[in-house]
Amino acid sequence: MKKKRNEYIAQFYRGNRGAFFLAVLTALLATGLHLIIARALQQMIDGISGVPGAPGLAGMAGWIGAVLVLILLVKALEYHSQPRFIQKAMQQYKEYAFRKLTEKSLASFDEEASARYLAAFSHDAETIETGYLEGQFHLLTSAADFIGALVMMLLYSPAMTGISCAFFILPAGVSLLMGKRIQQSERRVSQKNETFTATLKDSLGGFSVMKSFRAEGPIQALFAGSNRAMEQAKCRKRRQVIALGTLASLAGVLAQLGTFWAGAWLAFSGAGITPGVLIIFINLAAYVIEPLQVIPERLAALRAAEGLIDKLADALEEPERQPGAPLPDTLRQGIELRNVSFAYKGETRPALAGISARFAAGGCYAVVGGSGSGKSTLLGLLTASRRDYSGEILYDGQELKTASIESLYDLVGLIQQDVFLFDASIRDNITLFRDFPPEQVEQAIRQAGLAPLIAARGTAYRCGENGRGLSGGEQQRVAIARSLLKRSQVLLVDEATAALDPATARQVTLSILELAGITRILVTHRLDETLLRRCDGILALKDGRLAESGTFDQLMNAKGYFYSLFTVAQ
Ligand code: ADP
Ligand code: MG
Repeated sequence: MKKKRNEYIAQFYRGNRGAFFLAVLTALLATGLHLIIARALQQMIDGISGVPGAPGLAGMAGWIGAVLVLILLVKALEYHSQPRFIQKAMQQYKEYAFRKLTEKSLASFDEEASARYLAAFSHDAETIETGYLEGQFHLLTSAADFIGALVMMLLYSPAMTGISCAFFILPAGVSLLMGKRIQQSERRVSQKNETFTATLKDSLGGFSVMKSFRAEGPIQALFAGSNRAMEQAKCRKRRQVIALGTLASLAGVLAQLGTFWAGAWLAFSGAGITPGVLIIFINLAAYVIEPLQVIPERLAALRAAEGLIDKLADALEEPERQPGAPLPDTLRQGIELRNVSFAYKGETRPALAGISARFAAGGCYAVVGGSGSGKSTLLGLLTASRRDYSGEILYDGQELKTASIESLYDLVGLIQQDVFLFDASIRDNITLFRDFPPEQVEQAIRQAGLAPLIAARGTAYRCGENGRGLSGGEQQRVAIARSLLKRSQVLLVDEATAALDPATARQVTLSILELAGITRILVTHRLDETLLRRCDGILALKDGRLAESGTFDQLMNAKGYFYSLFTVAQ
């Protein structure tokens, strides 16, 4: 746990030590400033009271000048150190976390938890900024104030320091008592914020669903609920801060006035306490009392920030992965399934049972079957999104379970019904912002059947948010071009054309069927004779079992399950 967190904390300080040490120096000089102001006041008051040896008017002016210079110095140092340190620290921290996030494997990325990631990069990051990065310098100043003021008080009068300390016990107790509570409240606010972000994200993601079902009312109520819960949690925290503040100032005033009273008593009993010393004790007492209240609070904030870092580190942790043997660059024989069975976690009925099949390299295959027959599950196993299957899945004779995921992704391209498009140019959506030789891009565009669109709109045409600027068929073609450009040797297509009109669907499928040299497996529930005839093989799934397989003619002649599927569809 701690080790993981340290990797993230290291990001704050990477290449940032200079600014950090300068900020530390600033924090310590701030204490110096506090003490010098106290001392200046003492000298001036003693001067006014005519205490022998105290400075005259010129000396007082000197003190004022010294204080002004020091203030300017501390602030100038702060200006040049803290903001820069925090900027670089936060930048590096978020970039590191985001890199970890993008490096997560598909299998371990939890789509449901994406609200947690959103919170981590927004609200939590802010808490870390104030609680940890700024907090550490405040903490340092407070600690230095406490020690410095105590030492200075001892130098002035040990007796009075002793009496003052007796009064400090009160505020210290109060802050210890309340600090824990505030920490709990802070954690509750973070939780509520997570729920709130999740609600907001769902509402935005499901906007069209909400509109078409006219569910604005219930969604508003949902939003109001989590919004209220979050604001209530924040209100509770604010109240606790005020309550703590009240108790703390009461205790603080009592301690200060107590010190004053004790000082007056010592002065009357002739212990050499001048008015200036009395004043400096009041001042210094504040620097001893405040840290007693503030340090536990700041430590709690620091710990809360560390908790948030831990939370993010946990979410981004990748289960130990074996590197795996790389799959060959080019698929020569093909893919083979030997008696593959698979059940989803917690399900008793297998989604796939005893599947054996062969997909020759460069061939084109169709997988058909009713809804829920296991077609998508089959493609999922071929892309190693689940590895807890029994039996064997062999790419050129190499078992997928022991293969490296990266080499599989190099080999295989998956095209699904939902195409994700960035709000960027068609070109960037095809290349996914990587560099390719122009002739390769052009070839991919041609093969995917995108040439007419590009001719009309140009490669710089923006696809719009979620690809709104393109039709469904064009989006699918962009997805195909992407996979082709990536030089995928295997193209797995899961109902990619299901949402398209029959004519467009047929054209897109034809483009796929015409791709020579690429092993293609098309999951489809559209039983189009001309297209199916062009496939080298058809697999008909039924309730997770391979009911039949063969060419179109073979299956039609067999008059079995595929035959009945096909005739019903016509
Ligand atoms: P198809 O793509 O042929 O419609 P699927 O492969 O998606 O079918 O689903 C096969 C079976 O597995 C179905 O009974 C479905 O309910 C079940 N299933 C699919 N995905 C999951 C999942 N993530 N968890 C549990 N069961 C699932
Ligand atoms: Mg499916």
